[in-house]
Amino acid sequence: MPTEITFIDENTSEFQLAHACPTCDGPLELRVSTDGARSFCAKCHVIGRPVLKRDGHRGMTLFHRHAALA
Ligand SMILES: [Zn+2]
Repeated sequence: MPTEITFIDENTSEFQLAHACPTCDGPLELRVSTDGARSFCAKCHVIGRPVLKRDGHRGMTLFHRHAALA
């Protein structure tokens, strides 16, 4: 579950997911916009472009693909 959702504008929102980093299990910061989703882990600094898929029964699923390490 997201801790808190911040709406940047009508097409962009940010939230944090606890224990969601695929590398270190740390908290993952997510920004979702019409361009897709981007993620950043403040603990291990992995930057990603996850894919969010919505399912009527299971809710939202986050798929990770690493893009860079800062
Ligand atoms: Zn991490």
